[in-house]
Amino acid sequence: MKYKSLNLILLSVFSLTACAQSKSVKPQELSTEDMMAYLVDDNKLGRETGSKPMIEIQQWLIEQYQAIGLKPLPNAKSFRQEFVAKTKKAELDAVNIIGAIDCNCDNDKYLIIGAHYDHVGINNKLKGDQIFNGADDDASGVVASLIIARELAKAPKLPFNIIIAAWDAEEKGLLGSKHFVDNPLVPLNKIESGFMFELVGSKSEPNNAWMTGFAYSSLYPEMKSQLKKQGWTLGEDPFAEQFLFMRSDNAPFAMMDMTKEKSNQVFMEGKKADITGIPMHAMSIWKGQPHYHQVGDDLSVIDFENLTNFSIAVANAIKSLPEDTKIEWLENPHFNFKRPQ
Ligand SMILES: [Zn+2]
Repeated sequence: MKYKSLNLILLSVFSLTACAQSKSVKPQELSTEDMMAYLVDDNKLGRETGSKPMIEIQQWLIEQYQAIGLKPLPNAKSFRQEFVAKTKKAELDAVNIIGAIDCNCDNDKYLIIGAHYDHVGINNKLKGDQIFNGADDDASGVVASLIIARELAKAPKLPFNIIIAAWDAEEKGLLGSKHFVDNPLVPLNKIESGFMFELVGSKSEPNNAWMTGFAYSSLYPEMKSQLKKQGWTLGEDPFAEQFLFMRSDNAPFAMMDMTKEKSNQVFMEGKKADITGIPMHAMSIWKGQPHYHQVGDDLSVIDFENLTNFSIAVANAIKSLPEDTKIEWLENPHFNFKRPQ
């Protein structure tokens, strides 16, 4: 009797300890603040592609994916999509971290959600702070993707299969997303649509986000109406004249055969250009605050509550899309879009 109870006590102490331990190290329990603090820490040296801290960050992202229950895509051996980021100055080791959630539905189409985890590094010519921590650009987008992944992974059924992408080498010229489009892990004609997050942590008007290229596809009205039910306004791009649609990781997907000639044709001569691509856009909360690409883009510029609420609202919006949702390119003044075959 005595031994039994001792064993029982030992057992329960052991299982309590094991439970407490697994709970404390379970990355999916990390708060928005914890995830942001990890990515933005000075010891990450501004998350420049190919720099030493990126190796640890990639492992951390994989741990988050595993904890959430993401799986590598069926055609991929792991979450890592390695490539060489070629710039004018160097050839850098780069890695996209790509995971997927099965929809448990009849739809064989994918929705891609992503953000870039790289940033611009350090500038040792600066006096004082030399580290570009990139809290808003784009740790906020990576954290939003992780929160959304966590929410979607819990759903019994989704309208689309989901790809969660953390892109590398965006700041070197959208090279990570370009690499995926050139070496897709799923057939490109199976990707229905998607969006990339850029600067979604800014202290701006609460419950307000906006989408680039809003006039180009039906993703904007679809997401606008679903987000409205979540108490969020999805507005039109306030910086339309800057064509931010072409300046984030959505662009390699949306404009696969874009050339300088076509760009000139549209923006210099005012003529429409023929473009092949998948309707994919960027979403942002930033409204021109001065921290963009400055050393001051650190945790102090982040509205953690709004960032968390945004992520959950987007997850709920995705969950509430009907299963047969089709995202179409729309008539617009700049491009004659068509999907890849
Ligand atoms: Zn960015």
